[in-house]
Amino acid sequence: MKLCLLVLILALGTTGFCPAIQQTLSANALALQPATYEVEDSDAYFQKATARKNNSKNFSKEISALLSRMTLEEKVGQMTQLEIGMITKGDGDNIQIDPEKLEKAVVKYGAGSILNVKDQALTVDKWHEILGVIQTASQRTRLKIPVIYGIDSIHGANYVQGSTLFPQEIGMAASWNPALMQRGAEVSAAETRAAGIPWTFSPVLDLGRQPLWPRFWETFGEDPYLATVMGVAFVRGVEGDDVGSSKNVATSLKHYAGYSFPLTGRDRTPAWIPENYMREYFLPTFAGAVKAGARTIMVNSAEVNGVPGHINHHLLTDVLRNEWGFDGFVVSDWQDIKKLVTEWHVAADEKEATRLSILAGVDMSMVPSDYSFSDLLIELVKENKIPMSRIDEAVSRILLVKYQVGLFDRPMPDASLKANFATAESRAVALEAARETMTLLKNEGNVLPLAKDRKILVTGPTADSLIPLSNGWTYVWQGNNAALYPKDRPTVLQAIRTKAGDKVTYVPGVSFDKEIDIEAAVQAAKSADFVVLCIGEASYTETPGNITDLTMSEPQLKLAERLEATGKPVVVVLVEGRPRVINRIVDGAKGILMAYNPSNEGGTAIADVLFGDYNPSGRLPFSYPRTPNGLITYDHKLFETENTSYGNSAFTPQFEFGTGLSYTTFAYSNLQVVTPSVANNPVAWMNAPLRISFTVTNTGQRPGKEAVIVYVRDVVASLSPPGKRVRRFAKISLSPGQSRTLTFALRPAADLSFIGSNNKPVVERGEFEVMVGGLKQTFNLQ
Ligand code: BGC
Repeated sequence: MKLCLLVLILALGTTGFCPAIQQTLSANALALQPATYEVEDSDAYFQKATARKNNSKNFSKEISALLSRMTLEEKVGQMTQLEIGMITKGDGDNIQIDPEKLEKAVVKYGAGSILNVKDQALTVDKWHEILGVIQTASQRTRLKIPVIYGIDSIHGANYVQGSTLFPQEIGMAASWNPALMQRGAEVSAAETRAAGIPWTFSPVLDLGRQPLWPRFWETFGEDPYLATVMGVAFVRGVEGDDVGSSKNVATSLKHYAGYSFPLTGRDRTPAWIPENYMREYFLPTFAGAVKAGARTIMVNSAEVNGVPGHINHHLLTDVLRNEWGFDGFVVSDWQDIKKLVTEWHVAADEKEATRLSILAGVDMSMVPSDYSFSDLLIELVKENKIPMSRIDEAVSRILLVKYQVGLFDRPMPDASLKANFATAESRAVALEAARETMTLLKNEGNVLPLAKDRKILVTGPTADSLIPLSNGWTYVWQGNNAALYPKDRPTVLQAIRTKAGDKVTYVPGVSFDKEIDIEAAVQAAKSADFVVLCIGEASYTETPGNITDLTMSEPQLKLAERLEATGKPVVVVLVEGRPRVINRIVDGAKGILMAYNPSNEGGTAIADVLFGDYNPSGRLPFSYPRTPNGLITYDHKLFETENTSYGNSAFTPQFEFGTGLSYTTFAYSNLQVVTPSVANNPVAWMNAPLRISFTVTNTGQRPGKEAVIVYVRDVVASLSPPGKRVRRFAKISLSPGQSRTLTFALRPAADLSFIGSNNKPVVERGEFEVMVGGLKQTFNLQ
C-alpha cells in the first residue's frame, strides 16, 4: 500500500488573503496514517512556485529578438483570437478546414490564437488533423509563430470525444479533497494535451455566493478559503511543474473578477461589490492561483460597480500586475470588447471600446467571429491613441506563454500522446472523484444504505439520463446532445439495476417541466419497499440557464409529494447544479443525497452510496436555502435579535454549509489552542503561529472519511465581523475505533486578519473563537 500524502500549503500573506494548510490522505493510506500529526504552517508551496518561476527560462532574449522583427500588423495578429468557425466549413463531425478562410485568418491576419469547437466535441484524430493544418499554416507566415489553440476543458477534456470526465467544480468542492482535485486536473490536462491543445479556459474561480446564477455549479462554492485551496490544486494539476511538458497545459483563471455575484442572479448582469468585500471574498481565489503560477486569466464579462470587467484598469493592471506581479496574459471573454458598445454603453463605437480595453490591460481579444479588432487596433496605434509600448507588452506576454507551453519547439500535435488519453487509470480517478463528491443530507432512521434484496421503485427525470449528471460544457456547450454521451456509462437507474437486478421497477413519473404519469409512479410505489426519486435540473450554462425562481419545478415537487404520501420510504437523489428549493418535500423524505453534477461515473457513484458500497464523505460547499428569498451564506453577520423571526437568525437554511452525513459516526474531543507569547514584538506577533489541536475518533462501525473544518470567529472587530469563517480543513480517513489528533497552525497576519475599511488587511487583538466539530474554544490574541 502506498502512502499518498499531499501537503498543499498556501500563504497569501502579501495579498492580504488567508493562507491555507491542507493535508489530505488517500483512502488506502488509512492504515499507515500516524495517530498524531502536525501540519506546519509554511509557505513552502508558494516558495516552490516562485523558485520554479525564477529558475525557468524567461525567454526574454527570444522574445525581444522576435518582437524587434515584427510589424504592427503581426503584433496585433498575436493579440487576436478567432473561433474555429473562422477557418472551417461544415458542422459536427463533418467539420473541415476551409483553405481560403484559414489563409485569411492565420497567414494574412496572423491570428495568434484560435478557440473551441464549432458545435461539438471532436475525436482526438480529428483534433490532430485540424491542429496540424493550422500549425502548418502558421509555419508559412514570415516569422513562423505558432498559433495557441485554447479550449474549455472544464471538467476533463470535455470537447474531445471519449475523454475522461470529472464531477463539475461544485462537486469537487464538496469532496473537500484538494489532492483529488489535483489528480483530476492532471488527467484533464494530459487529455487536452493529447488532443494537441496546450491551453484550457479553466478553472472557474468565481465564488458561488448567488445560487440563482446559472454558472453556480462551475464554482467551488461560497467560501473563499475552500475555493482558493481547490483552485490552487486545479492549477497545480493542470500546469504541473513544467507547463510545457507533454502532460500539462496552461490554465486560464476566470472570470476576473466579481462575475458570479450579480444582483439579479442572471448571467452577465451588474454586481455591486465594494472594494473591501471584493478583496475579502472575490479576489483571494485569483490571488492564490496567480501566486501558484497560472499562465493566463480571462476577464469578467459583466460589470462591477458600473465598471465593465473589460475596462477595469484597477483590477486588470493595478491589482493583477502591480500588486500580484502576474506575468502571463489577459484574454477577453467572448465578444466582450464589442459588448462594451452594445451591452454596457461605455463606448460609442467599437474603436473606442478597443482603445479602452487594451489600455485597461486586455492583452488578447476573443473577438472571435470577424476581423474588426485587428483592423481597429492597427488604426488606433497609427493614430497614436495606443502607444506601441502597450502593444509590445501584450505581445511579449503572449509570446512568453507560447514559449512556455512548448509551442515553438513542438508546434505539431504529437501522435504518441494518444496513449495518455482515456486510460483505465484515469477513469478510476473519475469514479473516485464522483464518489467523494456525494453528500448525504438526510438519513432518517438509517433508511440508507438500502438492502439489495428489497423491491425498489426508481423514478424521476434524472434517473435515466447521463445529461443532467454532467450538465453544461459536456461534448456541446449546453451539454444536451444525448447522442454524444458514451454508451457504456450507466445512468443512476442502470447502476441501481446492476446492484439490485430484477427487484427494480422504473417509472419516469415526470419530466423536468411536465407531468408524464404521476399516477403510474404512485401505483408502482405501493408495491415497492423503497422509492429512489431522482430529481434536479436539466443541463444548462451561461445565459440559457437563467431562472427567475430557485424553487424546484412543480411537476417534480408534485411527484415527490404524491410518493411521500404513500407512506413508502422515499430517498431523494438531487442531481442539480444549484440548490433548488425543496422545503415542501424535505420532511416527508426519509433520505436525501446531494449528487451535484458528478458526470459520467455519477450513476455508479450514486448507486454505490445508496447501497452502502461506498461510505459518503462530502460536505455542502454552500448554504442550501429553505426558501427562494432565504439566501444567505454561512459566514453571515450574526445580527442576532431576541426574537428569532427577525435578523439573520431568521434565515435558517434548509441544510447548512458543511452538512454531510456518513454511515459511520465521528466524535471530536480535546480542542486546545496554544497562543505564542510574543506580544511585545509586533512583527513576530503577526507571524507567530498559534496551534489548534483536537482529536477525531471514528465511533461507528465502518471505516470512513471525515472532512474536518476549522472555523474561527473574530468576536469584536472594527468592521462588523462574520459569525465564523473557514480557516483550515483536512480530509482524513479513520477506521472504526481509530482516533487521530490533528494540529493546525494559524498565523494572525494571514488567518485572523480581515480587509479593513481602508481596503488593506488588518489584524485586531482581542478575543477569538475556534469552532470545530461541535466544540468551541475561546482564545485571546494579545
Ligand atoms: C464563457 C467563457 C468561455 C468562453 C469560450 C464564454 O461565453 O463565458 O467561460 O471560456 O465563452 O467558450
